[in-house]
Amino acid sequence: MFLEFHGAAGEVTGSCHRLNVNGVDIALDCGLFQGHRAEANRLNREVPEWLVHARAVVLSHAHLDHSGNLPTLIRRGYTGDVFCTPATRDLCSVMLRDAALLQDQDARYINRHNQREGRDERVEPLYDVDDAARAVAQMIGLPLRRPMLIAPGVKLTFHDAGHVLGSAQVALDLEEKGRRLRLLFTGDLGRAELPLLGSPEIVGGVDVLMMESTYGDRRHPDIATLDAELGAIVTSTIARRGRVYIPTFALERAQEVLFALERLHAAGQLPPVPIYIDSPLAIAITEIYKLHPEGLAPEVRQSLLERNDPFAPPGLCYVSQVGASRELQSRQDPCIIIAGSGMCEGGRILHHFARGLAREENAVVIVGFMARDTLGRRLLEGQRRVKVFGVERDVHARVHYVAGLSAHADQQDLLSFARSTARSGQLRKVVLVHGEPAAQRSLEELLATRGLDVVRPSRGERLAL
Ligand SMILES: [Zn+2]
Ligand SMILES: [Zn+2]
Repeated sequence: MFLEFHGAAGEVTGSCHRLNVNGVDIALDCGLFQGHRAEANRLNREVPEWLVHARAVVLSHAHLDHSGNLPTLIRRGYTGDVFCTPATRDLCSVMLRDAALLQDQDARYINRHNQREGRDERVEPLYDVDDAARAVAQMIGLPLRRPMLIAPGVKLTFHDAGHVLGSAQVALDLEEKGRRLRLLFTGDLGRAELPLLGSPEIVGGVDVLMMESTYGDRRHPDIATLDAELGAIVTSTIARRGRVYIPTFALERAQEVLFALERLHAAGQLPPVPIYIDSPLAIAITEIYKLHPEGLAPEVRQSLLERNDPFAPPGLCYVSQVGASRELQSRQDPCIIIAGSGMCEGGRILHHFARGLAREENAVVIVGFMARDTLGRRLLEGQRRVKVFGVERDVHARVHYVAGLSAHADQQDLLSFARSTARSGQLRKVVLVHGEPAAQRSLEELLATRGLDVVRPSRGERLAL
């Protein structure tokens, strides 16, 4: 029995690990490498032979860094099963298609650019919408806590990871030549107090814990002040007849924002104002949330079962068509606009910014992490002149940061998760994946002082079980 680390080893993207039991390979995740274009592109195209011939692929959740390279694998000839939760399958159906469309758009843009510059380099998208649809056709939805034998000596059970809708921890009961072992792969872990989802489940009897470590060196601010802060920003912006722009990711963050607005309404703290969700992907994903009450926190589930929509504060309008989005951009009446992309690097939010950033009555509410060199980060840093679509523009709108909506466990969450898992079994080893080296070192130190044996594998390394 061994594990081999193909991606998200000493880094956060490209999650993919090889599990070999009884001479058969199982892939845990099949994620996209993201980041520097050329390097990520090369890694995404280099699909190893073992992966094409694997017995099964198991997906922890629908984020593209965990599922987004599956269509490439299908294109290379993988014909086996892909196990995931039913909600992950539904989410992948819209997210992989969206990823294919974006790649096509990007490739056309780069090729046009190259042509204008007189270069004859051409880039091809990794995969197309047909590959994405074929990937979904190979997915088998397995609900939480329903064990299933997926290969000789490999029994799979999903447990709630509390990170995004459908996210699961992957428990694998392994047996080889009379030896038994329980391996738990966390995928990405959520926070205990994320309003929409349940807390990460503690799985008993784990021998080897392979866990994420994204925020192994950081603490998140408290979520408790979120409603009050958001309420105050909306009320004051609408009072001065401005627009509130909320750039978000389409999965989880957008639904958390809608749910927060719904709570504000229930508390009588939301002024009557139209709320536009200007993102076809976020709209599709919100509909999928409503199909899966089983994946949501108890009070949200109850609300859905009683036919109350927790994602529909009064005044909510879906904006799908490009024409309707343009019309909305051209007006200036007070409203709340939720649009992609999360870090303001693409998507419809940029069209709104092109007109709206210069107006001092408007407000931008940043609700998530902004990576270096993104427009979101520049706004957050208070820059008063920024480039939108290559044109320098003045920023007179107020920029606010509302903390607490991270869908990832922080250092404290990770530590207490590992300790609870250790207490409920005879944990022998902790394998840290999905984290930058600094975050991993700091978590490793804390885990080691609690008597746990920790390893931090790099890409390509093999670990005997
Ligand atoms: Zn994730
Ligand atoms: Zn991830």
